[in-house]
Amino acid sequence: MKKDIVRLFEGYQHFREQYFGEDDSPFAQLVRGGQRPKVLMIACSDSRVDPALIMNCEPGELFVIRNVANLVPPYEIDQAYHGTSAALEFGVCVLGVSDIILMGHTQCGGMQTLLEACPEKNGFLGKWLDLATESKERTFSASEGLSQKEKVDLCGHYSLIHSLENLQTFPWIADRLNEGSLTLHAWNFDMTKGILEEYDPQTQVFRPLQNPSFVPPPPPPIPQEETSPDLAKKPEQQVLFQFME
Ligand SMILES: [Zn+2]
Repeated sequence: MKKDIVRLFEGYQHFREQYFGEDDSPFAQLVRGGQRPKVLMIACSDSRVDPALIMNCEPGELFVIRNVANLVPPYEIDQAYHGTSAALEFGVCVLGVSDIILMGHTQCGGMQTLLEACPEKNGFLGKWLDLATESKERTFSASEGLSQKEKVDLCGHYSLIHSLENLQTFPWIADRLNEGSLTLHAWNFDMTKGILEEYDPQTQVFRPLQNPSFVPPPPPPIPQEETSPDLAKKPEQQVLFQFME
């Protein structure tokens, strides 16, 4: 057996021990109860940007669509096969996810191919990357003085924004957005820095992802011998009490 395949087999054995070791393992519960992921993630097929790995997710947490350059086509009714659109329909209409996250990444090979090479127009790749032609033109008109790497990353940003717009052309996504029961996000993974950025539609910029519900941990308890009756009134203590409630 080839070395790379042996490596996969070893990983599979580890997976079995971790997820099938007990009768009522979390995986067995997922099989019994069915999947109920709340988040649909659209990511690139790039081998370095596995969403479950980056977000430290367990089986059942993410419904993932991966394709070259994490592109979303517009809503189209025709006789062609639409893999990404079909998966979107399944996630939104069947599973009823509450969030869709588009996740791009820096140094995307799809964006690089779009900007540098001329894929065979009759091939699948060239046709697929046509979806990002507008982003490519936008990049060329705004990238004076940028290095090639910076152009690739800029095109990735533009493409995420364009895919975000395309998502809203699907009627069942537009309906859920109007109801307020679905939220769209555009994130970008900076592979060099190892950070996630999020797109802010208000300011139209990408900035490091913040956790809006993050509650700073309470300060460590004050040693008994240093406490006094007045300490309960101090701000640090009040924060501690609020956290404990
Ligand atoms: Zn990519």
